[in-house]
Amino acid sequence: MIRTSRRMADGREILYYEVDGSAVSHDTPDTRDLPAVGTHSQLRWDALLGEWVVYAAHRQSRTFLPPADECPLCPTRPGRPPTEVPEADYQVVVFENRFPSLATAVDPDVPPTAPGAPYAEQRPGFGRCEVVVFTSDHDRAPAELGAERLRLLVDVWADRTATLAAIEGVEYVYPFENHGEEIGVTLGHPHGQVYAYPFLPSRVERVLASVERHREQTGGDLFADVVAAERGGPRVVAANEHWTAFVPAAARWPYELQLFPHRRVPDLPALTGEERTALAELFGDSLGRFAHRFDEPMNYIAAWNQAPVHRGREDWWLHLQLFSLRRAPGKLKYLAGSESGMGAFISDTSPEDVAEQLRNVVVP
Ligand SMILES: [Zn+2]
Repeated sequence: MIRTSRRMADGREILYYEVDGSAVSHDTPDTRDLPAVGTHSQLRWDALLGEWVVYAAHRQSRTFLPPADECPLCPTRPGRPPTEVPEADYQVVVFENRFPSLATAVDPDVPPTAPGAPYAEQRPGFGRCEVVVFTSDHDRAPAELGAERLRLLVDVWADRTATLAAIEGVEYVYPFENHGEEIGVTLGHPHGQVYAYPFLPSRVERVLASVERHREQTGGDLFADVVAAERGGPRVVAANEHWTAFVPAAARWPYELQLFPHRRVPDLPALTGEERTALAELFGDSLGRFAHRFDEPMNYIAAWNQAPVHRGREDWWLHLQLFSLRRAPGKLKYLAGSESGMGAFISDTSPEDVAEQLRNVVVP
């Protein structure tokens, strides 16, 4: 993999990633007159739930579903206004979000607590939010990227994880993708994001607590027990030598897969080359099943669950959550009273049925 770092007109970093052996030249400057965006994000502590909430009011003015000929993620081509990417072509590009929820250059001047709430601690929204553009082709869905590009993406995610984890103050690195307009994607061009949080997200805290509780109660290793049971169970959808994709026993989304490597690794940088190739293959297979389950592709969220940067690394087992809010053609699962109000998911599908449906999808 070849990585080239450049600066955009407003000082943000842009990185070009290519497979080894590619002809690389990235000397086209960003000629836009682009003022730097000040970031005033704040974290505020929800004392009742024991978790952080991020406030990023400056994001209200961000680009929302621009027409395809004004896509900011497309390459810059003659006769059209310059985009975020100065070059006329690229393989994978990563750059800092122009309207980040978290930034290393965040305004540090934050009152210690929320007005009138001494228990609601406040902190600057320190961190980093990156955009990962999967291809220069505006119309190619991630399910159609092909094995080589997906493999490059795995290497890019691993590189971003290692790089962002090395920033002092970053506690968790989270690569993810929102796919499909109906779940709030504001740009149609195939892309994902990487968030570097200055805290452990509550899902990670809860999983670590479950691992600890399981060890106290049984002496066992929860991740190892789950992976071993699921690999031999009725909800496996697809597998190869190094990875298995299964519908989790207590799936909460209408369509949900988890991809686990067969060996405990904390995060993407810890995967071997062979494991990365096998992951790209199974990830592509899983995206294909989601794309072809119904007549039109399903929306989905792909969420990488990696070990924290510092705490609990030896307990963690890297995995991907891939889930869709689509219940049926034209029908979405809404997070209504029980889910949104109480966090209690009610599912009207059965995980074993869903596994069988996804096993039977024929990907052309
Ligand atoms: Zn585009």
